[in-house]
Amino acid sequence: MRITLGEYIFDISTDENEKYYKNERYVSEGCECDGCRNYELAVEQVSYEIREMFKRFSIDIKKPAEVYVNYSQNNILCYGGFYHLCGTIIKRESPWEIISETKNSAVSHLNENRMIWLEKSFRIAFQEGCALLNENSPLPCIQMEIAAYLPWVLTKKNIYEC
Ligand SMILES: [Zn+2]
Repeated sequence: MRITLGEYIFDISTDENEKYYKNERYVSEGCECDGCRNYELAVEQVSYEIREMFKRFSIDIKKPAEVYVNYSQNNILCYGGFYHLCGTIIKRESPWEIISETKNSAVSHLNENRMIWLEKSFRIAFQEGCALLNENSPLPCIQMEIAAYLPWVLTKKNIYEC
């Protein structure tokens, strides 16, 4: 299925994504740390637009392949992470910038301002290079990177706040 989003055009298999996300585990089943448990609850409160975007791709927002807390400020947690989905990128706008390059390696940086802003607090970008693939990963696989600012919603103390 062809999906256009911002500067990107995709060919996405929503059927494969549905199968994959049905069998994947919730983020809190894979890791019990506060950051992951908070993510799973906080995404219940994201806006209609964000939920619709995930629905278009048939991605379960509670099942990222990886999610982590970068920092917390005023009880808003800055999350990084990514989701896997089945399909190919037909046209892309790369938000990755190469900072330094030698003959053998390149260091790149994800420029949040060049990601797709679903809204100010939720940005996404896509790439073909996928991390943490396993035997269940959908193929061909693309990776949706996120930068999300989500509130602390657990009743316990926020250990990320300094
Ligand atoms: Zn965790």
